[in-house]
Amino acid sequence: MAQLDLTALRGRLPPRPITRFAPSPTGFLHLGHVANAVYVWGIAGALGGRVLLRLEDHDRGRSRPEYERAILDDLEWLGLAPDIGTIAELRRGASPYRQSDCDGVYAAALDRLARLSRVYACDCSRREIAAEMGDAFDEETRYPGRCRDRGLELTAGRGVRVVLGPGAETFTDAMLGTLSQTPSEQCGDLLLRDRTGNWTYQFAVVVDDERHGVDLVIRGEDLLASTGRQIRLARMLGRNRPPVFLHHPLIRKPDGAKLSKSSGDTGIGELRRAGATPGAVLGRAAWLTGLIDAPRELTLRGLQALFGEGWL
Ligand SMILES: [Zn+2]
Repeated sequence: MAQLDLTALRGRLPPRPITRFAPSPTGFLHLGHVANAVYVWGIAGALGGRVLLRLEDHDRGRSRPEYERAILDDLEWLGLAPDIGTIAELRRGASPYRQSDCDGVYAAALDRLARLSRVYACDCSRREIAAEMGDAFDEETRYPGRCRDRGLELTAGRGVRVVLGPGAETFTDAMLGTLSQTPSEQCGDLLLRDRTGNWTYQFAVVVDDERHGVDLVIRGEDLLASTGRQIRLARMLGRNRPPVFLHHPLIRKPDGAKLSKSSGDTGIGELRRAGATPGAVLGRAAWLTGLIDAPRELTLRGLQALFGEGWL
């Protein structure tokens, strides 16, 4: 892979940023997470910034305390210490950096949004939406607006959507350059809370990035399509200057094939039990995402050096 153009990259990044590492405790930590952590801690370190740890357990049906415990243990073992939302704080109990502890925050944000924008109840199931759209349902199936004018009451058992409005969002991704996305064509009216009462990923992260002061979002390219709608939603909530986004490549096997999240050779717990060192795991993740040419041991300082130690 081509080496990063660090000079161009640096010019697009905020000085001394607050960035975040935000795993969902719906499974164990794997090399894909560590590849993201390499970027997050490496760039934050190179820019003199801070890393915030946020546990994104908005999906209460799929999140498990044992996954959270294992994620915190693995991060500690890797030597990846967050500056904000520390591991000790999260282990102690309720925290503003754990989404399931913040129901009132999202409820207040929804109230605020409802005063400023058009928010409505929706009782459609995924199946109904897929049937109406005439294609297989996936995360990118556009909601056709079926409930927009039905005047349903906002009650338990119904989802909540917001009208995002027409038009494109243009933004400069720190790695990918200037991009344009049209949320109303991608996803339609955005789901904020689902029918079972879970806040959605899209809503929770936008609310969180604002309240946590995150000004740099570093994440994998699999989330690129969400960027325009998150910028739009943030503005609707009153945030006129969105965070800078940086989408990095996902990990690949040396032959270029995608690594499966669930395959045993990428689980950090498995690698630990097989005798790998933290430095070797960091190095393996950096290698699989193309940051270094061959696997080698990496320290935290070594991660920063990947992104240019002379930046400060
Ligand atoms: Zn609906």
